[in-house]
Amino acid sequence: MKLITNGIKGTADILPENSYKWQFVEDIMRMQAAAYGFKEIRTPVFEHTELFNRSVGDTTDVVQKEMYTFITKGDDMLTLRPEGTAGAARAMLEHGLYNNGYPIKAYYLTSCYRYEKPEKGRQREFHQFGMEVYGAASYFADAEVICAAKSIFDRLDVQGLHLELNSIGCQKCRPNYHKALKAYFEEYKDCLCDTCLSRLDRNPMRILDCKNAECSEIASKAPTVLEYICDDCKEHFDGVKNCLDAADVAYEVNPKIVRGLDYYTRTVFEFVSTGIGSQGTVCGGGRYDGLIEELGGQHTPSLGFGMGIERLLLLMENQKIDIPKPETCDLYIAGMGDNAKIKAFKLIESIRESSLTAEGDIVGRGLKAQMKYADKINAKFSMVIGDNELETNTAKIRNMKTGDETDISIDDEKFFEQFFDLYIQNSTDQLAGSSVLGNISQEELNKYMNHFTNNNQ
Ligand code: ATP
Ligand code: MG
Repeated sequence: MKLITNGIKGTADILPENSYKWQFVEDIMRMQAAAYGFKEIRTPVFEHTELFNRSVGDTTDVVQKEMYTFITKGDDMLTLRPEGTAGAARAMLEHGLYNNGYPIKAYYLTSCYRYEKPEKGRQREFHQFGMEVYGAASYFADAEVICAAKSIFDRLDVQGLHLELNSIGCQKCRPNYHKALKAYFEEYKDCLCDTCLSRLDRNPMRILDCKNAECSEIASKAPTVLEYICDDCKEHFDGVKNCLDAADVAYEVNPKIVRGLDYYTRTVFEFVSTGIGSQGTVCGGGRYDGLIEELGGQHTPSLGFGMGIERLLLLMENQKIDIPKPETCDLYIAGMGDNAKIKAFKLIESIRESSLTAEGDIVGRGLKAQMKYADKINAKFSMVIGDNELETNTAKIRNMKTGDETDISIDDEKFFEQFFDLYIQNSTDQLAGSSVLGNISQEELNKYMNHFTNNNQ
């Protein structure tokens, strides 16, 4: 087979047999976002390039090397979003969300685009879950978003992620640190890479984030930011740590964390794993009190984080975390003969009107092949309709796990009710047999299931 083209380097297709894993993780993310009072925000995949230049910062790797930027037919310069914060902040300002009062809490689940060298855990199109809080100056907000990120890892039962925390100061104290850094790096001018040299005057902190081996060796001995932060920043940082202590969240202060984007102030944090090689940072975030002003708004203390979904899934795969496969099919109905096939089609539709799932033949298989297929898709029940069944208005329905067969009316009025009873009875039996419920008696379970059935019909 010769295809006319392939997928683009650094992108991945999420295929039907794997998408349930993504859905599972995304559901947990949405659930935890709701638990913390965040609502979803969706913004366009592209924005004016200027937005990212200003917010992400033009001395960052993202802006200097990684953006997908293009000129449109209308001569606009646009960029595919490399991260989620800039678009969310722009939308918040543009729609005046602040008029409803603070804090504004939003989360996003989006694709991001960065022109990077693809490797495990590093793609050109990847996906992030992120949380954003606008208009919250208190350290309780910092602790809240950190706890929210952690709650997702906890729900997913991910092990071995440690929280690294730092404060990188504010507009007031940062210049002192810059001065000290600049003085330090000046000594090594001859050894720094060209990009770092260009950053020396404008933003020497970026050198700490350089991935070049020689630069990071030099950076490892540079003065650390915590020696330079002002009293207000210190107090804020102590507040964050106290909250985390109170919530029993373990962390390690790592003065080397500065984050890759320019907009950070005060708290920065990462959740890091040693389990997925060099791409171990699964989540990164912090406070960006100057961002909203940078975009033309009023001073608005803000913060958030971005979590890489590919890296999270890699980690879960490494730890062999079992993601429950969705139930595929409650009932498979095979039809033999044209009239029976029409009848099967009709009954299948009646099942689908409820929240149950049903399937029938749509590829023209014979009976034996249909039954094989019902097995393959893990159908819980199956039945066959032929001329006999049409005549008697009754068919045999088979529990595919136990092999038990029961007569069922295929009368349009009665079929669904009878199937539903059977389905509920089967679910009760399964629950009673499961260790999760421990010592709940069959009687209690029946009472509960009856209640459930009555309220759902
Ligand atoms: P790195 O240092 O690994 O390049 P970063 O600091 O550029 O990461 P952020 O901008 O903080 O990353 O993005 C937040 C999260 O998004 C990262 O912690 C990571 O999980 C994920 N991420 C970033 N870039 C990629 C990528 N190219 N492919 C897959 N995931 C990514
Ligand atoms: Mg990066």
